[in-house]
Amino acid sequence: MKLFDNRGPDTGEPILTKRQMQWVICDTCRGEGKRDNPAFANGITSEEWANDWDEDEREGYLEGRYDVPCNDCNGAGRQQIPLISACTFAQKRILAGMRKSDREYQRDYDSEKYLRMAENGVGHGCGY
Ligand SMILES: [Zn+2]
Repeated sequence: MKLFDNRGPDTGEPILTKRQMQWVICDTCRGEGKRDNPAFANGITSEEWANDWDEDEREGYLEGRYDVPCNDCNGAGRQQIPLISACTFAQKRILAGMRKSDREYQRDYDSEKYLRMAENGVGHGCGY
């Protein structure tokens, strides 16, 4: 889950007050504030585990010694999100606008990816 940015898109001023936000457990690290090292993202084969890792390394892995801080919550294990029921109508409008620009960004990104693929001869070049 991406961290909520409490800054107005135009003014850079905070949109919501503390009372209009709520803390939730970060769903990326489930509140741990850290996550598995990306080096292990593909898992560890039982062969590697048995041959390449010594006793100390195995113990360290199980204890989470190689974990890295969670990016999504900056290692806090929790995130602050808008408490919609406490927001005014005007604030809800700003929040809706921010979500929309997120989607627009995603759309631009997707079409750019598509263009790159088309340039590289992937796809059929029709559509846009
Ligand atoms: Zn997190």
